Amino acid sequence: MSQKYDMTIGGRRVQSGSHQQVHNPADGSVVGLSPVGTEDDLEAAVVAAREAFEGWRDTGDDAHASACTAIAKVLTDHAAELSLLLSKEQGKPLKGLGSEFELGGCAAWAGFAATQSLPMRVLEDSARSRIEMHRVPIGVVGSITPWNWPLLIAIWHIVPALRAGNTVVIKPSPFTPLSTLRMIELIAKVLPPGVINVVAGGDSLGAQLTRHPGIGKIVFTGSIPTGKKVMAGAASTLKPLTLELGGNDPGIVLPDANVEQLAEGMFWGAMINSGQTCAALKRLYVHDSVFDRTCSALADIARRVPMGNGLVETNLLGPLQNQRQFEKVIDLVEDARRHGGAAIVGGAPLPGPGYFYPTTLLTGIEDGVRLVDEEQFGPALPIIRYRDLDDAIERANRGEFGLAASVWGTDPAQLRAVASRLEAGTVYINKHADIAPHVPFGGVKSSGIGREFGDEGLEACTSIKVINAAV
Ligand code: NAD
Repeated sequence: MSQKYDMTIGGRRVQSGSHQQVHNPADGSVVGLSPVGTEDDLEAAVVAAREAFEGWRDTGDDAHASACTAIAKVLTDHAAELSLLLSKEQGKPLKGLGSEFELGGCAAWAGFAATQSLPMRVLEDSARSRIEMHRVPIGVVGSITPWNWPLLIAIWHIVPALRAGNTVVIKPSPFTPLSTLRMIELIAKVLPPGVINVVAGGDSLGAQLTRHPGIGKIVFTGSIPTGKKVMAGAASTLKPLTLELGGNDPGIVLPDANVEQLAEGMFWGAMINSGQTCAALKRLYVHDSVFDRTCSALADIARRVPMGNGLVETNLLGPLQNQRQFEKVIDLVEDARRHGGAAIVGGAPLPGPGYFYPTTLLTGIEDGVRLVDEEQFGPALPIIRYRDLDDAIERANRGEFGLAASVWGTDPAQLRAVASRLEAGTVYINKHADIAPHVPFGGVKSSGIGREFGDEGLEACTSIKVINAAV
């Protein structure tokens, strides 16, 4: 009998009338049954979060900080259980940059939030006026999460919102709801009832959340097309939004790069979570003079990094998470082949079971081919030869994306000069996909609106309230 997971609404575990099977993408086995929440469930969650709001807000700053410490402890205490469940439903390996790493990140982000503060600023203290600027919570924050890093992204949404005194309703991806349901059940035990609520279900629940007048703000992480729908949905009630959307991160390898030394960073920058990472390296522009050496250094690593069922502890890469994503990667690589692309390693799906697509490096294609222009979100990296740096920078900046970018080389002045010309929310030098709780993260252009993490991320969970007193 498969285990049924529960929603958490108003501090209670809530079942729904119907359930959906969640499958392990490595072998198709049933991991568990997710409730399929209804509009009524979502309504109940918003009501519970609204009822809890004033009490939570008024418990004060120290209580909010202590709650983040308590959440970090819960996540650490249950890391083994949650990592195992995450590996089963998401597919990512337990080890390496997999689910244990993800749980470690969850605890780190929660612990960091406990150290943050939202100080009041005195803007004027004169004979005429005393003017103070306070940061106050918004109300109920609605969180909508994707399936690639489901727990870490949930924590990125939830923890700053709670730290700032808001309450939360979260809706996880229907592809990976179980680990979030269980994580919220655990977190809810260290918070007053209704402060955190989770409703699992289909995309329509996300749309309901964005439109709901009882929700004060939406934090959304997902694709650009869905982000646009979220923005449209939120317009009717003029909600503030944080949108963390897709990326097609370019990397530029300069002629003086020590590519053998840098290849490991490029490889994991691209292949982390089998490429299913928003800010992964998704197209690599390599100068002609180091092109062959770069390809061969990356191919050597690709051949030795084991891919397979995430529960086998030697595996460092897992499957694609779902059939839609699997078919997308197959389609993009086949299209690249039709346009002259050749795979140095990989290039065709592995025999079943599971959605396994091998680590793939493709050469022989240029901008204008879909694998270069679109977000592949899988382990298939196009390596593009360039001769003129200005042209490479122009191509790197082309298109609607602007999440992150990277430049790889030796001369610090040139690295900085190139970094200054790349259009992205984060530009890395000699690394990629490196994030930290104190460093603001987010995209420009269609890759997003607003920032998470750091002071800026916390402030984004607040409204400004000015108290302007005559003296
Ligand atoms: P998705 O946009 O398909 O779904 C994300 C979430 O939105 C899911 O919970 C889904 O149920 C919900 N949703 C779907 N339709 C909705 C609607 N009309 N209104 C409200 N909610 C709706 O994304 P995905 O396939 O789960 O995730 C992959 C995408 O997420 C990639 O593009 C990736 O780059 C992006 N991503 C971005 C970041 C970032 O920080 N920038 C991080 C991770 C993933």
